[in-house]
Amino acid sequence: MSLFPAKVPFLDLRIQDPAERREMLEALEGIMTHGRFVLGPEVAQFEAEVARRCGRRFAVGVNSGTDALLLGLRCLDLKPGDEVITTSLTWLATASAVRVAGGTPVFADIREDLNIDPESVARLISPRTKAILPVHYTGKMCRMDELGKIAQAHNIPVIEDCAQSFGASLDGRPVGSLGLIGCFSMNPMKVLAALGEAGVLVTDREDLAARLERLRYHGTVNRERCVELSWNGRLDTLQAAFLLRRLQRFDALIARRREIAAWYGKLLAGVVDLPVERPGERDVYYTYQIRADRRDELKAHLESRGIETKIQHPILTPEQPVHAGARGEWTRAAALKTRILCLPAHEKLELGQVEHVAACVREFYGG
Ligand SMILES: *Cc1c(COP(=O)(O)O)cnc(C)c1O
Repeated sequence: MSLFPAKVPFLDLRIQDPAERREMLEALEGIMTHGRFVLGPEVAQFEAEVARRCGRRFAVGVNSGTDALLLGLRCLDLKPGDEVITTSLTWLATASAVRVAGGTPVFADIREDLNIDPESVARLISPRTKAILPVHYTGKMCRMDELGKIAQAHNIPVIEDCAQSFGASLDGRPVGSLGLIGCFSMNPMKVLAALGEAGVLVTDREDLAARLERLRYHGTVNRERCVELSWNGRLDTLQAAFLLRRLQRFDALIARRREIAAWYGKLLAGVVDLPVERPGERDVYYTYQIRADRRDELKAHLESRGIETKIQHPILTPEQPVHAGARGEWTRAAALKTRILCLPAHEKLELGQVEHVAACVREFYGG
């Protein structure tokens, strides 16, 4: 490690590894050769591989994670006033999808691990509640055991927003395997990343898989007869082909992310509040979010040392103007959001960079 390490970027999405570049170019070659640019054979292969990894019978590839949520929620046939309980701390897409699908999002509070608080969900259940939409935030699975009990007691489905957590598991159960439907994003920032927009849904229900296939192409059966209103949400063959190749490297990528998280865990123990993996949890660290006193000063300090950090969702979803007047509770989320900071934790970091980040955090707190 040099005395003055180069800048530590928050993300590095470039593909510089020659072997990986070659693989991606081969994917493009293959598709130029067969010419089936949308829903081509690679889409079906990708769907089969995702279904297998998620332990589900069916997967349906779509345009984006937002489309996955939207089409998944369309399967609930929400009517005006129907409520879907989701988390206060997430990307905009989660609650927007509920609204665009015709429902009303109700916002539950979060726990220290930044995931939805099942006890808050239980308090917010009403006769209008039609589903629970947890987000496996930061690459860590929610307490699906607790959420499942609440859902069962009220006979309502769970739809999982798995956009940040492909590959995560809880007690050996993969993310996306526990709800009625699991919705994934593979946009370039996610742990399993396309070279553009992409998404996928998983389910065990054959009728829902058939409906999702219909919804992703204008509500048509046999791509001709239109039986319900929808639009074009199909997945590009090229993205599926890129993703198939990325899946071959995926386990190594997650192992590397987990290694980086473990380094931070060792180097920063006792300095700030760190992500914790409880027994049975296997997180994929989409983001490595610490909770820190004087967060904004720490961020500025790290920036002065060439370290790029990020406050991922500085505005809670229920505090967005578009959701003004929404029902819910988010006291703990409001307190936590002033303390959270994402450190660079992507798989291309080197140990020297992680040490540099940790040293600068310790320096800030006078350690
Ligand atoms: C990224 C993300 C989405 C949306 O996925 P896109 O593919 O960008 O449309 C939805 N929910 C969460 C929690 C996300 O992080």
